[in-house]
Amino acid sequence: MPESGPEVVAVPGVLDAVRQAARAAAPQEACGLLLGRNESRRIVLSAYVPSPNIADDPTCRFEVDPAIRLRLQRETRDGGESMVGLYHSHPAGAAAPSATDRECLYEPGLVWLIAGRGPRWIIRAWLALQDDFRELPLTVA
Ligand SMILES: [Zn+2]
Repeated sequence: MPESGPEVVAVPGVLDAVRQAARAAAPQEACGLLLGRNESRRIVLSAYVPSPNIADDPTCRFEVDPAIRLRLQRETRDGGESMVGLYHSHPAGAAAPSATDRECLYEPGLVWLIAGRGPRWIIRAWLALQDDFRELPLTVA
C-alpha cells in the first residue's frame, strides 16, 4: 500500500463486470477502458468499456482497440467524465503488473485494474508512473 496518493473508488458493478470479462476471455486476457473522474484525493471509476484484445498473442499480453479509445474520447469530450484508466486480466498470473506490462507502460497517470488468476479473479489497482507501477487502495462505494 502506498503511504500517500489517491485511492481508487469503483462504483458497484464495475469490478464484477471486470471479473466477468476476465472469466469469459480466459485463457486469453480480457481488456477494456475505464471511465470516471479524477478528484483531489481519489479516482472514481464509474463505467467500463470492453474492448477486443487485439494483441498478437492475447494469452500473455493485451492491446485495446484504438478505435474504441478514439470513440470514447470523442464521446466524453464535453462531459465531466473521461478515460481514467484501463483494465485487463492475467488468466494464469497474479493481479500485479507483469514484465510485459512494464514494457508497455507508455502513459503515466492512468489507473490499471488487473484481475489475476481465475476462478476467484482478485482485482488490484495500480497507478502507472513514468516507468513503474504503484499500487493504490481500491474500494467499492
Ligand atoms: Zn498484464
